[in-house]
Amino acid sequence: MAQTASAATENHAGRQHQEVGHKSLLQSDDLYQYILETSVYPREPEPMKELREITAKHPWNLMTTSADEGQFLNMLLKLINAKNTMEIGVYTGYSLLATALALPDDGKVLLLLLLYNDLSTILLLIACEFCVQILAMDINKENYELGLPVIEKAGVAHKIDFKEGPALPVLDQMIADGKHHGSFDFIFVDADKDNYLNYHKRLIELVKVGGVIGYDNTLWNGSVVAPPDAPLRKYIRYYRDFVLELNKALAADPRIDICQLPVGDGITLCRRLT
Ligand code: SAM
Ligand code: CA
Repeated sequence: MAQTASAATENHAGRQHQEVGHKSLLQSDDLYQYILETSVYPREPEPMKELREITAKHPWNLMTTSADEGQFLNMLLKLINAKNTMEIGVYTGYSLLATALALPDDGKVLLLLLLYNDLSTILLLIACEFCVQILAMDINKENYELGLPVIEKAGVAHKIDFKEGPALPVLDQMIADGKHHGSFDFIFVDADKDNYLNYHKRLIELVKVGGVIGYDNTLWNGSVVAPPDAPLRKYIRYYRDFVLELNKALAADPRIDICQLPVGDGITLCRRLT
């Protein structure tokens, strides 16, 4: 059955969900609503709910990360014990807040080292300080400022370093100054789809070996399987070829493990191998 996600959501029968960020391939809105009501909304932290409701009133709410994807990102970051992350494309900050809530506060870990020599065992306790940070970039600060009061109230704003402007020059600068190579545990890319491959060229150097890059919207509203003459919205048609090219390139890239998940509008996780 070659049905696109947009066709699937437009031709649905039964109840229609209210999740503005949802564009997934789940074939029934009732099923998606079930996931939201059973597992997502009851466990959604209060600040994320507040930010989701503020965002739902914004004219560009279609851009937001959905609540189920927010929950997924939050879980993933905890699983990989992420501390130093990056986000490209913030909008009002829903995925950013999901990230900030998942990261630990700055802290110290105590390392216990036992050193042996001929005469004795030397016990060394070394305290390592770690710094938690999310480098967040967006060309539009106004939208971020809509969400910022909620992020501040949640007590996690200190983890975020927001930079206004295009992300690519910032990445180039980080690569040029040499201090950030292999330093990010997780990078979420959710901005200009026509630049994803340009981001990938740089991010593969900035993410740690074993770290993860998540490219969002890799199913691009289901248009990746739409026939050439399908009636697509203008912006969907414009970015479609870039998404198709990205998906092929990621699948062929020997430097990463990949996993493309039908969460939200599709997210491809890439784990750096070497
Ligand atoms: N992750 C966000 C969330 O959870 O709500 C959604 C991000 S939205 C889909 C895409 C964002 O990318 C927009 O806010 C847009 O301003 C930003 N953007 C577009 N081009 C950009 C660029 N070259 N550099 C940085 N951000 C960019
Ligand atoms: Ca997205």
